[in-house]
Amino acid sequence: MTTSTTPWQNWAGNVIASPSGRSNPTTVAEVTEVVTAAAERGSRVKCVGAGHSFTPAASTDGVLISLDDLTGIESIVPTRDPDGHVDGADVTVWAGTRLHQLGPLLWDLGLAQPNLGDFAEQSLAGAVSTGTHGTGRDAVGMPATVVGLQLVAADGSVLNCSRGSNPEVFEAARLGIGAVGIITKMTIHCVPAFVLSAEEHPWTLSAALADLEGFSRSADHAEFFWFPHTDAVTVKRNTRLPGDAELRPLGRFRELVGDEFLSNEAFGALCRTAARRPSMTPRINRFAARAMSARAYTDRSYRVFASPRRVRFREMEYAVPVAAAAGVLGDLRDMIDRSGIVTPFPVEVRFAAADDVWMSTAHERDVCYVAVHQFHLMDHTELFRSAEEIFLAADGRPHWGKMHTRTASDLSNTVRHFDDFVSVRDRLDPDRVFANEYTERVLP
Ligand SMILES: Cc1cc2nc3c(=O)[nH]c(=O)nc-3n(C[C@H](O)[C@H](O)[C@H](O)COP(=O)(O)OP(=O)(O)OC[C@H]3O[C@@H](n4cnc5c(N)ncnc54)[C@H](O)[C@@H]3O)c2cc1C
Repeated sequence: MTTSTTPWQNWAGNVIASPSGRSNPTTVAEVTEVVTAAAERGSRVKCVGAGHSFTPAASTDGVLISLDDLTGIESIVPTRDPDGHVDGADVTVWAGTRLHQLGPLLWDLGLAQPNLGDFAEQSLAGAVSTGTHGTGRDAVGMPATVVGLQLVAADGSVLNCSRGSNPEVFEAARLGIGAVGIITKMTIHCVPAFVLSAEEHPWTLSAALADLEGFSRSADHAEFFWFPHTDAVTVKRNTRLPGDAELRPLGRFRELVGDEFLSNEAFGALCRTAARRPSMTPRINRFAARAMSARAYTDRSYRVFASPRRVRFREMEYAVPVAAAAGVLGDLRDMIDRSGIVTPFPVEVRFAAADDVWMSTAHERDVCYVAVHQFHLMDHTELFRSAEEIFLAADGRPHWGKMHTRTASDLSNTVRHFDDFVSVRDRLDPDRVFANEYTERVLP
């Protein structure tokens, strides 16, 4: 461990911390050493992934551990369906592996993660620990694909957990917001490699809201981005094809115009204009929506799911019941129109299937994720405060890695297994070695 004088900040720049030390262990034994030494000194410990949470989930004034040197695939065990046919594999991956590294590694093995978010810089353990998800009415979030994990607890013990071994620790740690221990490796269920046929086109919010249920089922992975102050949306529909389907990737020019230029460089310039002249935001959004032209392409799943995001923003995302989502979006539109609040960033609308993960935002209910964003140079406070009121009125549950104001007492009423989670944490970390400012707010 090295003593640190360098401040740490998250990707969005809204969380800044001063860790007392930093450590980049290369083995599980080294992780154990760092944790036990810190616990003996009475220091706190936090593991950071890629620092891409908007909440202070990875912030610490104690020792900041990074598993950037604990990466790659450890082992693969083929799995079979009830008829005995191979239907994928359980793949054990070192926890610090970034998602953008994992996609190509799995592809070379004929495998893929069943679903991904729209971005791939995160570490596997960081993404799973906050409940990262993608979109798809039949697609569960990342924690629900975890079938086993190895955890270093506060007393230095190394626990191997699954449904069959330390089942309660497994349930808590597969969405554990870094509060129950340090995950050193994870076993995730992967499916045979697949290709996605992507279709993107402009549409209207009114049309989407008229049959949101139908829209959510219109492709394997359907989502849309709504440009506030307009009725314009950009639809993205991804359809799964076999792994040997012919690829028709975006040409370099279309890729530049789409992801690199519009999503990043030009969009950043538009956002800076909106920050200087907020009253121009509705015009800017109309222009941005028109600039997102239709395109279709077919590529490896991990290349289609994720895109680069270089324009910094702040984000709040809630999971609401699918049946309530059209009302929530209508209320959001009315609130923005009435309040005079402006944002150049689109609202992202996605879906996920119910799962059984204790702390999951989709625990036992199909959900629609509604995410509001604000450019990092513009004030997000009023937008997020008013949006959160709407989400809460619809029984929304906050994403653990995105901004929200919920506290332990609020969450204990909405997260069904909150008390089970807390009792596992009390048992594994009675002295709160893994606590930080975020866990002090969201956990007792
Ligand atoms: C540009 C951008 C795009 C995003 N897109 C999506 C999206 O499409 N879908 C979505 O759901 N979310 C999305 N997010 C949110 C993001 O996926 C989560 O916040 C995720 O947790 C970030 O992963 P990370 O590796 O940066 O974790 P960090 O933010 O570094 O850490 C998150 C939590 O995990 C804990 N942790 C990290 N490693 C370990 C470990 N080894 N053991 C135990 N705990 C650990 C940390 O202590 C912390 O509590 C996005 C965020 C950004 C900035």
